[in-house]
Amino acid sequence: MKTIGLIGGMSWESSLVYYRIINEEVSRRLGGLHSAPCILYSFDFAKIAELMHAGEWDTLADLLRSAARTLERGGAGCLVICTNTMHALADRIADASSVPLIHIADATGGRIAADGHATVGLLGTRYTMEGSFYRRRLEERFGLEVIVPGAGDREIVDRIIFDELCRGLIDASSRAAMAAIIGRLADQGAEAVILGCTEIPLLIGAEDVSLPVYDTTRIHALAAVDYALEDR
Ligand code: GLU
Repeated sequence: MKTIGLIGGMSWESSLVYYRIINEEVSRRLGGLHSAPCILYSFDFAKIAELMHAGEWDTLADLLRSAARTLERGGAGCLVICTNTMHALADRIADASSVPLIHIADATGGRIAADGHATVGLLGTRYTMEGSFYRRRLEERFGLEVIVPGAGDREIVDRIIFDELCRGLIDASSRAAMAAIIGRLADQGAEAVILGCTEIPLLIGAEDVSLPVYDTTRIHALAAVDYALEDR
C-alpha cells in the first residue's frame, strides 16, 4: 500500500473528513486492523486565505510546492490537495513533483461522466466557480457542460464557505439557502450538482436536495485509496 501525502488545512474542517474517509475505506477493503499509511501537511488557513484574497498565487504555489516536497521526502507515494480551490495551482505542483498528483476534478468528472450526466451545476468558492481552471478541465476532459450560479448566489456560497464552514459553523438557514441555489441550478438545466468545495458536504448532502450530488471530498479521498491500493 502506498503512503498518501495530504496537503491539507484548507480548511482543517475538511482535512479531518479526508483522514476519516481514507482510513474507513482502507479498513473496509482490507479488514482487520488495517488503516491507511498517510502523511498530512496542514497549513495555517488564515495565512492561505489572506494570500488568496490578495491574489498572491505565486506565493501560494511556492508554499504548496514546498509542502509537496516535504511529503515526498517523508515517503509519500502520491499527493492529494485537500481543496478544490487550490487545484488552480495543481499543474504547477504536479510539474514540480516526482509522484503523481490525484486531481480532484478528474476524480469527480470521471464519476459524473460514468453516471451519464451531461450538464452539471458547480458550487464552490468564488475562485472555483468563476475561474476557468476547474470548469475547463471538466469540459475538456469529460465533455461536461458546467453551469454556475448567478453573481448574487455565488457571493452567498462563497460567504458561507469562508465565514461559516471553514470556521466549523453549520447553520440551518445556510443549508436552506444552499438548497435553494441548487434548485435554481436545476431550473437552469443542471442534471446533477458538484459540491466543489471540500467543506460544503459538511452542510448539505443528497438527503437535502432532489438532484444527484457529487461530494468532491468523498470522491477525491476514495480516488486516493484506489491509487494507494492499486498494486496490492
Ligand atoms: N476547501 C475549499 C475548497 O475545496 C475552500 C477553501 C479554500 O479556498 O481552500 O475549495
